[in-house]
Order: sequence, then structure tokens, then C-alpha cells
Amino acid sequence: MKILVTGGAGFIGSHLVEQLLKQNHSVITIDDLSNGKKSFLYTVMDHPNHQFIQGSVLETDILKQAIKGCDVVFHLAAVLGVKNTVENPLKVIEGNIDGTRSVLEAAYLNKTKVIFTSTSEVYGKNDNLPFHEDSLRVLGPTTTSRWCYATAKALDEHMCFAYAQKGLPVIVVRYFNAYGPRATSTQYGGVVPKFITAALQGKPITVYGSGEQTRCFTYVEDTVLGTMGCLNPNVKNQVFNIGINEEISINKLAQQIKLISGSQSSIVHIPYEKALGKGYEDTVHRVPDIIKASELLSFQPKISLEDGLKKTISWYKRQMKEQEGD
Ligand code: UDP
Repeated sequence: MKILVTGGAGFIGSHLVEQLLKQNHSVITIDDLSNGKKSFLYTVMDHPNHQFIQGSVLETDILKQAIKGCDVVFHLAAVLGVKNTVENPLKVIEGNIDGTRSVLEAAYLNKTKVIFTSTSEVYGKNDNLPFHEDSLRVLGPTTTSRWCYATAKALDEHMCFAYAQKGLPVIVVRYFNAYGPRATSTQYGGVVPKFITAALQGKPITVYGSGEQTRCFTYVEDTVLGTMGCLNPNVKNQVFNIGINEEISINKLAQQIKLISGSQSSIVHIPYEKALGKGYEDTVHRVPDIIKASELLSFQPKISLEDGLKKTISWYKRQMKEQEGD
């Protein structure tokens, strides 16, 4: 197939592009390099079936040109990260809504199937676990910018299904805490890169709140596996949870990262208010129900948290060595 990947130089996007090329698809990557890095595509930059375009999904002429003749577009370009959500809500709203609208419109004109990457954040504070795809979304007030990312992504999902109603095949995947090589903390703000970086530098590992909140950290190879399942031509106009259902508290995550990396770092707790500003509300637990993805996409996560953390920590160690050598 001929496939366009928006945000293909980002953390998940670059892994997806590699896998698509391995499966002999022809791939066009479009990325404005605001978060992504060309170096993330170093294994595929010169691949004969790969074309890289530096550009934004908001540049409609570039996008329309790139999507011509594509069977599928994976839309990963997004503005994300808790820090962005709290500090730069307008950028989050515009980037996610205008970008997705632009991709859907271009895809509609070209009859290209859209696989839109959304987030488990859309379930918000729902405490009825595990989340299945039609679980309720429980979000806080609009006066708290913390909810703007979840809201923007949910509106994007609505847009996808509005286009589906006009005949465009779409799939929405909701990612659950993807981590792995290339998830750098400045880029994404995720807890795993932050803890690993601190552990390897011997700096304190800072846990927000009690640390008893839990997540299901999903190794990027598994995230990509679930995403690729959406190429199945028989599947369309559906939402899927893509994640592992191995739940761990942030306290235990900190201990495990410290242990695997052989670090002497201390583990310290700081209040949410100090870390993320007044009024920040964290999601306490987040667990996916993946029965639907397993049945329709044959999705079965393969990498345990322990193995995934080992691989990720090794990658970080190599990165740090390379940087020291520069
Ligand atoms: N967290 C933490 N220390 C950090 C960064 C995050 O304790 O330095 C916590 C955060 O409060 C949340 C969890 O780790 O409970 C996962 O945070 P992340 O930003 O990775 O993703 P989220 O699931 O909140 O979108």
C-alpha cells in the first residue's frame, strides 16, 4: 500500500514508519520537526520506498500533494504533553483541531482511509475500570486548561466520525501511555523518560502526589503493532484501545527504573501543585480493555514492562554515551 504518516519523525511515528517499510509498504512521512527529529528516521531516511517531507499538516497545499494516491493516512501529528496542556492551551487546541481537520479534508478529497491516533486521556476521571471503547468520558471544567488536550482529541474523534458519515473510512486508536526509545522528556513530557533520565544522571526521581496513581505503560513496539492492525481493510469506522493491561503504580515504576538502571538516585515525592500548578487534577487509574482490539485487529501486546524498561534504559544509556562523545 501507499501510506502517508503525519508526525512520522516523532516518537511513535518513527517506529511506525520503520515497521511499515519492513512490511514493504511505500511510505511518505510528513513532519514539521517541531517535536520530531530527522535523526529518529536515520534507519529509513534513504530507504527507496520512503519519502520525507518537512512540513506541517496545516500547510494544506503540501498535505494535499503528499496524500495523492495514498491508500491510508496515519495521522499522528499532534501537540501533546501535560506541560503543553497546562502552559500552552491555545497551541494544544489549535494544533490538534486545525491539524486533524486539515488531514480529514485532504483524505476526504482523495478517498484515503484515515487512522487517527487519539489518547486514553479522553476517558478523563472515569473511575469505572477497565475502560472499554464506549466507556463514559468524565472531564473537569473548561476553566481548567488541564482538560483541553482530552477535549481537543475527543472533538477530533467526533470530526473523524462526521467524515465517516460522509463516506470516508476512519479508525480511531486510543493510546495508553506509550514509552520506549525516542520518547525523550523534552519532547513528550512523559514520566518514563523523566524517571530514566533522572536515574541515569543520579538525580532525584520526582514522584507527583502520593505515587499510588497507576498507569498501564505500553512499549512502543506494541503500540505500533496495534496501530498497524488498522490496515485490515475489513475494519473501519471503529474506535480501539491500544495498550497493555499490566497496571503499575508510579511509586513502583520509580523503584523498578531505579533497580534496572542500577541507580543511586533518591525517590522524592512532590505535591501536584508544586509540579504542575494550582488545581491540577491527575487521573488516578487508567486501564484499557483490549478485547475489541484483540478480536478485530488481532492485537496482543507482547512486551512486559520489565523487558520494555530494560530496552528503553539501554537506549538511553547509548544516547548519553554518544552525547558525551560529541
Ligand atoms: N508523574 C510523576 N513524576 C513526573 C512526571 C509524571 O510522578 O516527573 C506522574 C503523573 O502525575 C501521572 C503519571 O506519572 O500520574 C503519568 O504521567 P505522564 O505525564 O507520563 O502521563 P499521563 O498518564 O498523566 O498522561
